[in-house]
Amino acid sequence: MYQAAQNRYQVIPYRRCGASGLMLPAVSLGLWHNFGDTAPYENMRALCRTAFDHGITHFDLANNYGPEPGAAERNFGKILRDDLGVYRDELIISTKAGYLMWDGPYGDWGSRKYLLASLDRSLQRMGLDYVDIFYHHRMDPNTPLEETMGALAQAVRSGKALYAGLSNYDGPTLEKAAAILDELHVPFVINQNRYSIFDRTIEHNGLKDTAAKLHKGIITFSPLAQGLLTDRYLHGIPADSRVHTDGRFLKEKDITPERLAQISALNDLARQRGQTLAEMALAWLLHHDEVTTVLIGASKTQQILDNIKAVEHTTFTPDELAAIDRISK
Ligand code: NDP
Repeated sequence: MYQAAQNRYQVIPYRRCGASGLMLPAVSLGLWHNFGDTAPYENMRALCRTAFDHGITHFDLANNYGPEPGAAERNFGKILRDDLGVYRDELIISTKAGYLMWDGPYGDWGSRKYLLASLDRSLQRMGLDYVDIFYHHRMDPNTPLEETMGALAQAVRSGKALYAGLSNYDGPTLEKAAAILDELHVPFVINQNRYSIFDRTIEHNGLKDTAAKLHKGIITFSPLAQGLLTDRYLHGIPADSRVHTDGRFLKEKDITPERLAQISALNDLARQRGQTLAEMALAWLLHHDEVTTVLIGASKTQQILDNIKAVEHTTFTPDELAAIDRISK
């Protein structure tokens, strides 16, 4: 029977999620890739054990993570039954709805009909009574915000979610949504958005500033730009890399000579700081006070062990910050 490492809470720091009572580990683990039915179960199990043994208490899912959609939740449910479930009160488990999940008009976007049915199915797949965070996965231009936020409120009121979150929102929409959630007394605590040295969208669309102004947390997804901000692709495309094994979202054409030159220059800078590029990329995010936690993915346990070292050196000189901006422009 699995027994979690005794010293697991001495490894990484926990950071407050905005002004809420929720503390999250500086590094969180996402199950978007490597947890579908095409991946070996023993590897996923090892990834989750390694994460939890090193203080990663937060596991992020969504209804559609697979392949097939739903598979990651089902596989994580098995991991809970086999290993982690006895630690349920030490875990923060999140899921989402907002992308295409099933056929017809009620399996996508942001209606009350879709969100509440999807949450029920997510709970069934994971074998849980509640998730810790339930997110609306993306903005829906055609559904009134009041309806979508009302569904999040209902999820919390029914006890099926403890906190509400928003993903892929921009600043102005976040502000409107937060006002509605406030009125409904919903514990909305966190924004999940893509943010990395290579993707500064939230610095430009108002999300980062608005989240800080409203005292909400930010969890940054694809902090390593799906592996580009590591040494993975410096010398070609390895056979076991995401581009080769699951090129649905990261493609060979994304690795242009210009990109490689940037990666190489950032890699040199990281070395000068005594870090790997992966560590520096995560540390760069963590040095922003607005960021609560970096949401990594991993295909190997060693990557988790490498990435958590980022927390050991999260300060940057003004020259280093300027160099990162210059290189990544
Ligand atoms: P990352 O940017 O952290 O990329 C993870 C991948 O990078 C790994 O699978 C691995 O790929 C590679 N990698 C990780 N660490 C290292 C290392 N130390 N050295 C070399 N390679 C490394 O994050 P993801 O893109 O996976 O996203 C993380 C999570 O964010 C998801 O699981 C999901 O929970 C969430 N997410 C949310 C979205 C949303 O819309 N809300 C959208 C996308 C993601 P490999 O070994 O296979 O090459």
